[in-house]
Amino acid sequence: METNVNQPIDFIREIIEEDIKTNKNSGRVATRFPPEPNGYLHIGHAKSICLNFGIAAQYKGTCNLRMDDTDPAGETMEYVESIINDVKWLGFDWEDRLFFASDYFERLYDFAEELIKKGKAYVCDLSPDEIREYRRTLTEPGKESPYRNRTVEENLDLFRRMKSGEFADGSRVLRAKIDMASSNILMRDPVLYRIKRTPHYRTGKKWVIYPMYDFAHCLSDAIEGITHSICTLEFENNRPLYDWIVNELIEGEKPRQIEFARLNLSYTILSKRRLIELVEKGYVAGWDDPRMPTIAGMRRRGYTPEAIKTFCNKIGVAKKDNLVDIALLEACVRDDLNENAPRAMCVLQPLKVIIDNYPEGQTKEIECPNHPKNPSLGKRKVPFSKVLYIERDDFSENPPKKYKRLSPDKEVRLRNAYVIKFSHLIKDGATGEIKEIHCTYDPATKDGPSLDGKKVEGVIHWVAASHAIPIEVRLYDRLFTVEDPASKGDDYLNYINPDSLKILYPCFAEHNLKDALPGARFQFERIGYFSLDPKDSTKERPVFNRIVSLKDTWSKLAK
Ligand code: ATP
Ligand code: MG
Repeated sequence: METNVNQPIDFIREIIEEDIKTNKNSGRVATRFPPEPNGYLHIGHAKSICLNFGIAAQYKGTCNLRMDDTDPAGETMEYVESIINDVKWLGFDWEDRLFFASDYFERLYDFAEELIKKGKAYVCDLSPDEIREYRRTLTEPGKESPYRNRTVEENLDLFRRMKSGEFADGSRVLRAKIDMASSNILMRDPVLYRIKRTPHYRTGKKWVIYPMYDFAHCLSDAIEGITHSICTLEFENNRPLYDWIVNELIEGEKPRQIEFARLNLSYTILSKRRLIELVEKGYVAGWDDPRMPTIAGMRRRGYTPEAIKTFCNKIGVAKKDNLVDIALLEACVRDDLNENAPRAMCVLQPLKVIIDNYPEGQTKEIECPNHPKNPSLGKRKVPFSKVLYIERDDFSENPPKKYKRLSPDKEVRLRNAYVIKFSHLIKDGATGEIKEIHCTYDPATKDGPSLDGKKVEGVIHWVAASHAIPIEVRLYDRLFTVEDPASKGDDYLNYINPDSLKILYPCFAEHNLKDALPGARFQFERIGYFSLDPKDSTKERPVFNRIVSLKDTWSKLAK
C-alpha cells in the first residue's frame, strides 16, 4: 500500500497528527471514501480516494469504501461495480470494509424516531415551495412552520404512517427542529426524510421514505466509527448540521467533518450530472470513452494508476478552489510512460520509400533496444527490406531552412538502421501528389558514420512494407475548447472540441505489435504514447489509442 512519507504535510494531515498527539479517538484514524453510485468515478474522485486511502495508510488507520446510496433515483448496481473496479485498479484496498449506506436504513430510521422522541424533529405538511418560502433569506429570520409544535405522539404517529406508505410523495417531510432564525439557512429546520416511491436498486420497494444526505451521511460515518470525515468545500455550510445531528444522537467519540477544495481540471468537466449528459446524448461513446475524465476512460486510454496517483499527490490538498492545468496530469502520464513504456515504430501517414540498391526479396533482421535507457526491457528484431514506409511529413521536396529530415539534398538516418539518400520521386499524374520516393542506402552505415563521413542530423522512424501490419490509430485531443467549460453553465455543450477524436487508417506498425495484449502501452518513436484498445480492437484491425503526445502541444504548463 502506498504511503506518502515524502509528502509535504497538508492542513488535513496537520489536524490528524494533532488528534493523534492528543489521543483523540484513542489515537485511531478511520476515513472513508463515500461515492454515490449514480455515475462513474472521475479524476476528481481519484483525488479524494488518494487522500482518504493515503491518510489511512500513512497513519496506520483504515479507510472504508462506502456506497452512499440513500437516494434511489439514478443509483444502479452497474455503477457500484464500476466504482469497486476503479478503486481497485487505482491500487487501494478496503479489505472487508465495503459498506452500503442503504444497509443502515433501519438504523437511520430508528435514529429519526429518537430525534422525534427528544422533541428535536417534527413532521411538516408544507410543500417544498412553502418550506423554501418560510425559510426566507439570509437578511431576515425565517418563519416557523405551523406544524412545528406538533406533539411527540402526533409526530411519531405521522412519521410511522409516512414509513408505511399512507401518504403521497412530497406531501409530508420530517424536519429537524433547530433554529428558524439561524444565520445559516441550512439550520432553519432542515428536511431529514422525504416520501419518495422510487424503487431502490438494493432495497427494492421496501422503503417509501428516504433519509436526506445531511441526515444519512454523518450517521453513517458514526455507525462505521469514522474519525475524520473528509469531504469537499461545498459541504462547509453543512458542517454545523453534521455536528448538530451527531451531537444529538451519538454518545462518545464523534466523527469530525473536514472540507478540502475539490479538483477542477482545465478543459474538463467534472460533474457527474454533466458527464451523464455527455454519455446519454452521445457526445462520447460511453463512460469509458478515452476522452472522458472518468477513471474508466483514462484506464481505457492507457493512463497508468501510478501516473494518476502521482498527479493527485502533486496537486496536494488546498482550502480554496482553483483550476488545475490538465497539462500537469498529462505530464505525469508522460513521465511514467517515458520511463516504462517499451518503444516501437509505427508510421501514421505512410509514404512509400523504395531503396533502389537494396536486393529484391531480401530481409535483414535489425536488433533494436526496447528502451533507450533501460536494458531490462530487452531487445526485439525489426525487419528491414527494399520497400519501406516513412512518415509523409518526414520528406519535403522543397524543405524550409533547418529542415532536418529527408529532402532531395539531405540524407537522413533510419532509426536503428542505415543512412539513406534521395534519388528521385514519382508523382500521381492527376493529383500531383507524391506516390513514392526512391533512395539509395549504404550498407556500411548501420551504426556507422554517414555516406560521406559527415554527421547526419536527422533520424526518422520507418517500417518495412513487407512485414508492416495495418492498424487503426485514434488521436485524442481535449474534449473542450475552453479552459473552464464548467463556467459556461448549461451552455458547456457548445464548447465541445469537434477535433477531439481523429481516426487514422491504415497506419503501418512494426509486426511485433501483432502480439500486443489489450491495454499494452508503447512509445511509438517520435510520435507519442499509445495503447491497444481493449474494447474495439480485433485481430484483423488492431486499434491503438493515443495516450498522450510526446510533448505538450498546448504548452500551457509555463503559465
Ligand atoms: P459530482 O459533484 O461530480 O456530481 P459528487 O460529489 O456528487 O460528484 P460523490 O459520489 O458524492 O460525487 O463523491 C464521492 C466523494 O468524492 C465525495 O466525498 C466528494 O466530495 C468527492 N469528490 C467528488 N468530486 C470531487 C472532485 N472534483 N474533487 C475532489 N473530490 C471530489
Ligand atoms: Mg455527492
